Amino acid sequence: MIHLLVNATVLTLDATLPVAQALAIKDGRIVEVGGTDEVLWLREADYEVVDLGGRTVVPGFVDPHNHFSLGAFEMLWADCRGARSVADVQRTLAAAARETPAGAWVRGVGYDHHVLSGHPTRDDLDAAVPDRPALVMHFSHHQCVANSRALAEAGVVRATPDPPGGEIARDKSGEPTGLLFERALSRVETASREAWEARFTEVARAASRRYAALGITAIQDAAVTPAMARRYADARVAGALAIEVGEVMVGARGWFERPDDAAPGSLKIFVDGGYRCAMRVLRDGRPRTSGFLFYTREELTALLLAAWRADRDVVCHAIGNLGIETVVGAIEDAVQTMPEGRARVRIDHAIFLTAELIARIADLGVWVVAQPSFLWDRGGAPAPDRATDETILMRPFASALRAGVKQAFSSDYPCGSNAPLLGIAAAVTRASREGRVAAPEEAVSVSAALEAYTLGAARAAGIDAVAGSLESGKRADLLVLSSNPLECPATQLASIQVLETWMKGVRLNPP
Ligand SMILES: [Zn+2]
Repeated sequence: MIHLLVNATVLTLDATLPVAQALAIKDGRIVEVGGTDEVLWLREADYEVVDLGGRTVVPGFVDPHNHFSLGAFEMLWADCRGARSVADVQRTLAAAARETPAGAWVRGVGYDHHVLSGHPTRDDLDAAVPDRPALVMHFSHHQCVANSRALAEAGVVRATPDPPGGEIARDKSGEPTGLLFERALSRVETASREAWEARFTEVARAASRRYAALGITAIQDAAVTPAMARRYADARVAGALAIEVGEVMVGARGWFERPDDAAPGSLKIFVDGGYRCAMRVLRDGRPRTSGFLFYTREELTALLLAAWRADRDVVCHAIGNLGIETVVGAIEDAVQTMPEGRARVRIDHAIFLTAELIARIADLGVWVVAQPSFLWDRGGAPAPDRATDETILMRPFASALRAGVKQAFSSDYPCGSNAPLLGIAAAVTRASREGRVAAPEEAVSVSAALEAYTLGAARAAGIDAVAGSLESGKRADLLVLSSNPLECPATQLASIQVLETWMKGVRLNPP
């Protein structure tokens, strides 16, 4: 069967034919892109004509930094993203405890300490869930609060020292408060997911359809433990993944630990913390460093070279300017030995940049994968050691593009909103969902944002041979939108709807 999609405005993202009217699909691939009349000539014995009545068609969105293996469980875990108070978190966890099967930890996700005016404590959680391990993850996924049972199971007691690269928060008497930062949360976080992960195939089936409904046709899961890699293999055998998922591997001991036992494939290295990223700021004329830096430049250089020698691509998480400086320096050093490594490494997040770092990244020619979704969700709320230092730019998307940085967009879902059109809207308007505008001079054009979430993202993910643009030979992953993003007012971008999602030439949405 050949499908002929005609009478549309097709934004191809192909520079040789940026706008077309029609395309033909056969065996899951695009076989022709052009005018309606010329595509209608391709009718075969078995054909379907889909008249799109002037609607806009774009390539399926690619999200190269998404945590599908967390997001897939969102229907099962206690959602604390809307919690306005510690009491809300307690109520949500207590209700979740009643639904949590025996043997599984009670797991809440997404609280924001700014909204709660502080973090909950182990006592708060004990009051809600006294008799079994429970924890609630901060929206950043880089800190969490555990109850007493969870701390006991993870062996966190008064005498436990802070691990390198992590911190156990303590009260005045030295007793752990339940709040754990970065590498201090590895054990509880891993344990809290274990029992739930057995249901991955079931939740992945539903979640991948939710993703498709948002227009996402391909993602990379940005942190996959060896246990989850096995779950992914099972889900694939069961045919549960409706969209394309690539995996970026971390080790079994926890996301932020050295990935020594990661499964084969692309490798994720967390260079600095999340909410407490590694910063260096000038205060009163003097440099002051803060946050967690997990590797020195030399250690990271050795890790990069070892990965490249093992034929692995590397995704480096770096948020703070000191974290980014460390990874940029390590890449500069490593490519002295292996110049071909340039094409095998990218920097994800890169939030707190400087003009100097932007220039060095542009020189290296490596991809940066950034998240406009955070502007949408939090209006660019600053990290704790937000500089008064004017050399530090925050999510400087326009400056990066002007300097020639290869920049792709992603969501970091569930840390940021999943819908690519919200990310695109935020990159163009720099506005949050409440309308707060952050650094408007760093806004990019709609076409730049669209490219960063399609072709650019596919290139950053290494799948541009089959995805990211609408060209003959590529996979027929495409969307029908309610309006043309290039023509609608910027303030309307966030309300554009994905009317149809086609994956490999099959309409997934609406089913
Ligand atoms: Zn992430």
